[in-house]
Amino acid sequence: MFKLEKSVAIDRNNDVQWAQGKVAVQGIAMSVYSFYVDGLLIDTGSSSLAQEFQSFFNEVDIQQVALTHAHEDHSGNAIWIQQQKEVPIYIHGEAVDECASDSNLPLYRKVLWGERPGFSAKPLGATLQTNRATWDVIATPGHTTDHVSFYNRATGEMFTGDLYVQTKTKVVLDEENIVHTLASLKHLLNYDFETIYCCHAGCLIDGRTKIIEKIDYLEELEGDILKLHKQGFGVEEISKSIFPREYPITKVSGEQWSSNHIITAFIQHFSKESLR
Ligand SMILES: [Zn+2]
Repeated sequence: MFKLEKSVAIDRNNDVQWAQGKVAVQGIAMSVYSFYVDGLLIDTGSSSLAQEFQSFFNEVDIQQVALTHAHEDHSGNAIWIQQQKEVPIYIHGEAVDECASDSNLPLYRKVLWGERPGFSAKPLGATLQTNRATWDVIATPGHTTDHVSFYNRATGEMFTGDLYVQTKTKVVLDEENIVHTLASLKHLLNYDFETIYCCHAGCLIDGRTKIIEKIDYLEELEGDILKLHKQGFGVEEISKSIFPREYPITKVSGEQWSSNHIITAFIQHFSKESLR
């Protein structure tokens, strides 16, 4: 069987507290964060770390929960919070039905993150209200179509779910559309913020700079991909040239995570644009 190593660390920046859960299995290590500020819990972590996260949930006074998207590493403990705390849980309206039933995940995701039991969610509106602030709910599709970011108008804190994760993205999930991710990153810059709270990279004081760097990286990548595409190279050839390394997650996931999804999305976008 798979031996999963787990741990959790609690920390804070100003009024934002968080639990950072870590899982490691077969050489793949990942962190996932759950944030708390002003009565609001943003994302719940994974059920593979249920006990670790529960100690954090019991330390803070959760009045409501907002989820950046439905993935199991963000919503895996929603059912526990619902049963124990009886507080509302909000998510993009499109994901409400999906959240009502248990997840049906491929094995590698079940091993890393555990199951995501069904729970009852309410659809997010355009804003959220906490005790001391009004928040903007910003549609930031790309990683998933239901992905949102949360912006605290009073403090300028930006919670970006899985929009950022890392600057130099090399592989994405098959459901991610990197063209939309790029547009969402640019859209975020319309808001006045510096620090971001990312569900896999944590609190980034220079978050705005990181997002600009990611935009630059993706635009450069798009240029490189389209150059090879226009020269007549196919997806596999472009992939070998631009992403020569093989990433363990690609094999483990049966190519659900792959560099090819990045290449395909940019090419499809280019083809659609040229038909206009
Ligand atoms: Zn995700």
